[in-house]
Amino acid sequence: MPKDPGSPVSPGRIHPRNSHTLRQGDYVIYWMQASHRTSDNHALEHAISRANRLNLPLIAYFGLTRDYPSANLRHYSFMIQGLAEAARELEARGIRFILRHEDPATGMIALARRASLVVADQGYLRTNREWCDRVSRSVTCPLEQVESNVLVPVTVASGKEEYSAATFRPRISARVPVFLDLPPSLELENQGKLPDVDTLPAEKPEYVLSLLDPDRSVPPVAIRGGAATAASVLERFIRGNLERYARERNDPSVDRSSGLSPYLHFGQVSPGRIAREVMATEGEGRDAFLEQLIVRRELAVNYVYYNSRYDSIDGLPRWAKETLGVHSRDPRDYLYTMDELELGDTHDPYWNAAQRQVRCTGRMHGYMRMYWGKKLLEWSPDPATAFTRAVMLNDRYQLDGRDPNGYAGIAWCFGKHDRPWGERPVFGKVRYMNARGLERKFDMEGYLARVKHECGE
Ligand SMILES: Cc1cc2nc3c(=O)[nH]c(=O)nc-3n(C[C@H](O)[C@H](O)[C@H](O)COP(=O)(O)OP(=O)(O)OC[C@H]3O[C@@H](n4cnc5c(N)ncnc54)[C@H](O)[C@@H]3O)c2cc1C
Repeated sequence: MPKDPGSPVSPGRIHPRNSHTLRQGDYVIYWMQASHRTSDNHALEHAISRANRLNLPLIAYFGLTRDYPSANLRHYSFMIQGLAEAARELEARGIRFILRHEDPATGMIALARRASLVVADQGYLRTNREWCDRVSRSVTCPLEQVESNVLVPVTVASGKEEYSAATFRPRISARVPVFLDLPPSLELENQGKLPDVDTLPAEKPEYVLSLLDPDRSVPPVAIRGGAATAASVLERFIRGNLERYARERNDPSVDRSSGLSPYLHFGQVSPGRIAREVMATEGEGRDAFLEQLIVRRELAVNYVYYNSRYDSIDGLPRWAKETLGVHSRDPRDYLYTMDELELGDTHDPYWNAAQRQVRCTGRMHGYMRMYWGKKLLEWSPDPATAFTRAVMLNDRYQLDGRDPNGYAGIAWCFGKHDRPWGERPVFGKVRYMNARGLERKFDMEGYLARVKHECGE
């Protein structure tokens, strides 16, 4: 694919969001929203190359709002740790980092009054898309958005909502080799004086948190945020668990998964970097891991991008809505209140352990997430309530919550990206899971012991 001669980034990743032409300004802005890192960041490197061509300084801007849907102290602590690291690295490269406590779109529009150009990274959920639409309509300079949190740009991977991994896999696999390149780290040429703009001291995360004063009902967890920690998590995974990933990744009692999802969620690590490092290995874990990282993760991006009802039961395929509708009034053996679910206070020790695990560690084992979602469908008064509860609990407690993967994962429990199975009460033709299946496949006593240990009980 031909490149813009000044930019190190494939044009397929770059999307002009308005039709304004470049104009005289004091600086170029990199609007950091979804890619909280300075390495392997296509949007940042594209912004530097644009600033160099215009011989202008570059500002990186982050608008910190306490109103981000479902975000609480757990998420903000992790995120602000990562931003502190990004701020230090940007400043070391001569790029001023402006962190402000304000509505990001409003702050961006104000800062753009003196800019020649805004370059934004790309998130795929409603809130990020609304912010970007508002800014692109309100500013009078060009706004270019650059995709750096996916291997293959979402509209290149597919032009429509895909039915399943089977339909998506051949499309994305054919395009991965074209988009494997990571951008070089460019030097900003004009590091001249910038106008004074107020900023919070990003290098003091505790202070920034105290000013923000987010919802404190969910405490922070031990997992540390930031690109440096993400890099060591990746390295440890490749050295330790990748080899056994194909065989053991589903087993909740041993937990061979990477633990990379919170870092991917906040863009503290690039999926391209992970893919390249895993591709450089040999062994049976490699392909199984790439299937999750590329096909499943980017199928989730495809879902939220093309389906505006991704976080409700209305986003499901017709067959799933129909069959769940037919069975919505079936009698349930167990019905729990939201309080009982939140506390992990049901008759099922495995489900309770999974819920306790996420409450105290911010992570639930991947296989248990499927079981967890299926049981919410079984124990709620109707499928729509079950879906809403799953979204609320997932977004509230998972450190990687509020992510395309979360909405696609929950939707999968209700039939999305799956096929009809044998009909049964409550589930209709949606795939069923039960505790006996867990016991048959895994050492579930080992899982219970593991959760107790993780939760310090
Ligand atoms: C009900 C339910 C809720 C979920 N909620 C979330 C969520 O809020 N955030 C989130 O990131 N993932 C979610 N998932 C998907 C998946 O369970 C997690 O991505 C995975 O467990 C994260 O752990 P890991 O990074 O150690 O995964 P690994 O097994 O090491 O996989 C590496 C990466 O591949 C991707 N991946 C792995 N499994 C899946 C999958 N099934 N679908 C899509 N991508 C996948 C993730 O980006 C993950 O980080 C959910 C799944 C279900 C069934």
